[in-house]
Amino acid sequence: MKMMKALEGKPYEEQLRSFGLFNLEKKRLREDLIVVLNILTTGIEEAGTDIFSFGIVEIDLFPVKQNCASPVFYLFCWPCSSTCHGCVWSCVLIDCYLLEWLRYRIPLPRNMIENSMFEEEPDVVDLAKEPCLHPLEPDEVEYEPRSSRLLVRGLGEHEMEDDEEDYESSAKLLGMSFMNRSSGPQNNMSVYRQNPNGSCSVTSVRTMVVCTVVFVIAVSLIIVIYLLPKCTFTKEGCHKKNHTMELIYPLATNGKLFPWAKIRLPSDVVPLHYDLVLHPNLTTLKFAGSVNIVVKILQVTQKIVLHSSGLNITKATITSTQGHQAKPVEFLEYPLHDQIAIMTPEALLVGQNYTVNIEYSSNLSDTYYGFYKISYKDEDSKQRWFAATQFEPLAARSAFPCFDEPAFKATFLVKIKRDEKLSTLSNMPKKATTPVTNGIVQDEFSVSLKMSTYLVAFVVADLKNITRETNGSLVSVYAIPQHLDQAAYALDTTVKLLEFYQKYFLMEYPLEKLDLVAIPDFQSGAMENWGLITFREATLLFDNNTSSARDKKLITAVIAHELAHQWFGNLVTMEWWNDLWLSEGFATFMEYFAMEEIFPELHSDEDFHNLIFKAMMKDSLNSSHPVSSAVQSSEQIEEMFDTLSYIKGASLLLMLKHYLTKDVFQAGIEVYLHNHNYGTAQSDDLWDSMNKITNGTLDVKKMMKTWILHKGFPLVTVVRKGKTISVQQEKFLFRVEPENWTSDASYLWQIPLTYITNRCNFTHCTNAYLLDQKSAVIELPEEVEWMKFNVDMNGYYIVHYAEDWKILINLLKQNHTALSPKDRANLINNIFSLAGLGRASLETAFELIDYLKKENSTAPLTQALFQLSLIYNLLDKKGEQQLAARVMHRIEQLLGEKIDQQHWTDDGTMSERELRSTLLAFACTHDIRNCRTTAMEMFERWMKSNGTVSLPTDVMKAIFTVGAKSSHGWEFLLKMYSSSVSEAEKSKMIEALASTEDVRKLIWLMQNSLEGEVIRSQELSHIVATVSQSLPGYLLAWDFVKENWEKLTRKFHLGSYTIQNIISWSTSQFATKPHLLEVKSFFESKSEESSQLRCVKEAIDTIQLNIQWMERNLAKLQKLL
Ligand SMILES: [Zn+2]
Repeated sequence: MKMMKALEGKPYEEQLRSFGLFNLEKKRLREDLIVVLNILTTGIEEAGTDIFSFGIVEIDLFPVKQNCASPVFYLFCWPCSSTCHGCVWSCVLIDCYLLEWLRYRIPLPRNMIENSMFEEEPDVVDLAKEPCLHPLEPDEVEYEPRSSRLLVRGLGEHEMEDDEEDYESSAKLLGMSFMNRSSGPQNNMSVYRQNPNGSCSVTSVRTMVVCTVVFVIAVSLIIVIYLLPKCTFTKEGCHKKNHTMELIYPLATNGKLFPWAKIRLPSDVVPLHYDLVLHPNLTTLKFAGSVNIVVKILQVTQKIVLHSSGLNITKATITSTQGHQAKPVEFLEYPLHDQIAIMTPEALLVGQNYTVNIEYSSNLSDTYYGFYKISYKDEDSKQRWFAATQFEPLAARSAFPCFDEPAFKATFLVKIKRDEKLSTLSNMPKKATTPVTNGIVQDEFSVSLKMSTYLVAFVVADLKNITRETNGSLVSVYAIPQHLDQAAYALDTTVKLLEFYQKYFLMEYPLEKLDLVAIPDFQSGAMENWGLITFREATLLFDNNTSSARDKKLITAVIAHELAHQWFGNLVTMEWWNDLWLSEGFATFMEYFAMEEIFPELHSDEDFHNLIFKAMMKDSLNSSHPVSSAVQSSEQIEEMFDTLSYIKGASLLLMLKHYLTKDVFQAGIEVYLHNHNYGTAQSDDLWDSMNKITNGTLDVKKMMKTWILHKGFPLVTVVRKGKTISVQQEKFLFRVEPENWTSDASYLWQIPLTYITNRCNFTHCTNAYLLDQKSAVIELPEEVEWMKFNVDMNGYYIVHYAEDWKILINLLKQNHTALSPKDRANLINNIFSLAGLGRASLETAFELIDYLKKENSTAPLTQALFQLSLIYNLLDKKGEQQLAARVMHRIEQLLGEKIDQQHWTDDGTMSERELRSTLLAFACTHDIRNCRTTAMEMFERWMKSNGTVSLPTDVMKAIFTVGAKSSHGWEFLLKMYSSSVSEAEKSKMIEALASTEDVRKLIWLMQNSLEGEVIRSQELSHIVATVSQSLPGYLLAWDFVKENWEKLTRKFHLGSYTIQNIISWSTSQFATKPHLLEVKSFFESKSEESSQLRCVKEAIDTIQLNIQWMERNLAKLQKLL
């Protein structure tokens, strides 16, 4: 054997710039990929290209979970034929998995196969063991990389002369022994180069073609006919005994080999423009479509692979830009990857544009995904249909065939045929309406800007709108006619926020119009489609009579979030879903930042901090993941839409903003947006933009990589001795299964520590220190009485004050306003987290909140109530009712007076109003402080008036919850729910209905919400959350999930945020080993995709933690309370 090479870390193409039999480390592949060979193209390439491109062997990667221990490739080459250029070699690349097939197919012992392959090969080295033995020598390179795929071409014979025997034996093994041997050694590479005039004798060409065809047939025969029938390729690999596993070999639906086996699309063809014509029929609930996609060819190919899901394709043609006639083409479908392949009779030429036309039809979806239908009642209580889209992340492909990956940006021209009585909306302004047939017209929209497919949107419905112009753009809020009177607040808010963002980003909103549409049934909160933002009604419509302070905040926050996406996500898009946080983390950060700037009276920062506390709880589990994580499958992509992408992503930006200062951060964002507009970006692009501003004074990339690429967060322990402060970092991790710990104890974050002291408190100054080592010492200029780290909780870490907790407890008792409300909430959160970890005692935690009687601020009160409720709920479900009652007694001691002080009105600041909502809902739920008496009086008055008496909106939920305790009240509420026109009111009613103790009613509610007729399915996760909190409901909720798992995952999609929530809520109250086993075995009995969901692992971690918490603290609580 001549040689083999290991080119660790280099692209495949470079690795393949070698020849002969060699093996390569499979470094850039997922471990569960195997290589299959599809020989697609043979023939002579155009004159002018190198002669070695004679037989193209295309290697595709096939996602199969494998146990192959040695991920190595083997490249076999053998002399094939003489041509005018000399001898040409054919090569086949296989990997160890193919060896496994061979081992099974050909009953040879392993060593015999390998020996026959590597006979007399003393220099064949398993490169997994000995990497980089032979660096690439440029002189030997003859392979020309053409794409990211693996193309193995014919190679010059002269370099193989010493090793012909080996190639022959390899060829024999593959059944190729009939191949011609080369005619003899050649001595100079130039001999094999094409003549300058590009000519080549006909005979040679023919020989080559014949040879190639023989080769193709031989390999195809081996793989398809000989190997496959005996060996079933399944998700588990090649099974010798069990042949019943699910087949996922890439065969198209018509039985032909599908030419592409990766989940990601090939990069040899890119879309430039889509012409999309759709005709949704709201009577038959079907739609017909036609799409012309202009594509550009980047590498010669005879196939165009793109996405399509659930579409009935009736016709496909291709036209070249030279204006030739459209030619019908064969298309293959591979539904497992939602892919189709357009197979062209002739090679598509590099640099040329072609237009692919596809005609198809489908049903409007009955899930919340794709182009879906919604039924609702109009003003006359008549059933009507509404069609809308939700494409993010992977559903554009179910409305039209497309290159459905965020990096494939293109322009879109959308035309929609509709009933003349309905209206349509799309991303761009409407350009023209033309009649089609009787009663049907076609709306044509302007050509869009360059954008990703997941941002395309259209709506067909009976809609009305209100409109205002700002800065050259027309802003409109759309709703069904009977809800239009609730649209004014959204329009006002949108205009203010749009103006703010344009100023802050120094970049105008690029479209002529921005529509916000309230959709009657919508799975998520809202979707940022460029120019056409879709919302659920409760997050857009504000009703003066029934919307509370909290509702106003929610609407403002959701609008602020979606508007921020018009820049972060739409203008600059993440290259792939692994960096989803660049879109969602940024939009979440901007949402709170913009609200603080424009609506300071809403105190939105309190909400943000509460969300950060919850994100940290998830992030402290072993099942957590880095903010930027590799994803491939649809479930993995769906699961990226979680608290960590949104909230952790946003809180890391908050930390960075405080560290860099407001101005530097803003300047960095401007650079990022300007450098990447209409394109895509990765996390590093953001840090590079920031580094341009810091200009070497701080390496933002180095610092932020420690946060983005690693799961979890640090615990900083502070020990104070006089003026010397020792700080030390370690990972904060709730350890539940010692054997499964991720061993990253030595991991170091670069933590921008901030602190205040009694000498220099929050109104005057904040000190900062970058902790990039395991430990460090900070010398203060003078001794201080106390210190508080993580000022205003702007950093994503927890602080343990060791001996200083006592000092802080005293400070809170004596003068709690020396610290800001956020700092007080932060201390409460940190001490309870440390108690959960076993690093601080529960006594200390309870001691710290003793000061609460004096507390008036919402943030610390809410945080304390949250921590105590967690404990109360666990004890309650564990059957420790006496102890639970003692926790409730402690809550009453601390907060009773505060509850008594609340008025049953809507007076006060937004913060006071929200606190009132929280405290009274809590008091009424747990029947303390006489809450239920007042609430019942108000409910009965409301019921007597048949719902016409208006109730204070902030306490409406508490009143309804008490009313729903009686059967009569519950029935009345349900009746009112069905007739209410306010989503704000309905969501309070649904929570009240779900808080009943009548189990039959709870089951009815969950079932009906899943069906979606009486209660909308969009409410289901909300209902499950409420039901699973109560003692009568928590087991029911879990039973419901088990019994309806298939329906749930069909309706909401595996991995979606709704499924994550449903799993999390329905298992959150379990704290016993039998429950742990049950949850584990339930998911293990389901598909691999279900059991491997991250949220399932998270649920299991949480139950284990609950068990651990109980074991650790039950006895202590007995003593303490
Ligand atoms: Zn978002």
